Amino acid sequence: MSTIFSKIIAREIPSEIVYQDDTVTAFKDIHPSAPVHILIVPNKEIPTVNDVTSDDEAGMGHLFVVAKQIAREQGIAESGYRLIVNCRDDGGQEVYHLHMHLLGGRKLGPMLAR
Ligand code: 5GP
Repeated sequence: MSTIFSKIIAREIPSEIVYQDDTVTAFKDIHPSAPVHILIVPNKEIPTVNDVTSDDEAGMGHLFVVAKQIAREQGIAESGYRLIVNCRDDGGQEVYHLHMHLLGGRKLGPMLAR
């Protein structure tokens, strides 16, 4: 099932794309939770982490390479940042097209509310 992210990747609906190549698209989150909040998304429609296969290993690794590059471009490589991938209900996943959140630009605090 396609989601809104496939339309963003295909540039059928507007978004602030900061990076795109053959396998990955990165764009600003519409409701940012931090000064820098970018979603790094495989162009392939993989709904959740549960659906990742060994064929996706290179693509998943590429998400990290792109995240590192964008963090540097956004000026947060040295101050630090957080990468989050939510999975299904308990993980708080809203959009069922696997994506990595890149968050930074302020102290993000503890990883989880206790
Ligand atoms: P999730 O909770 O699935 O890990 O995160 C989904 C994220 O996608 C949320 O942070 C939400 O703000 C963002 N989002 C949802 N719809 C859109 C959209 O149409 N455009 C953009 N740029 N971000 C979106």
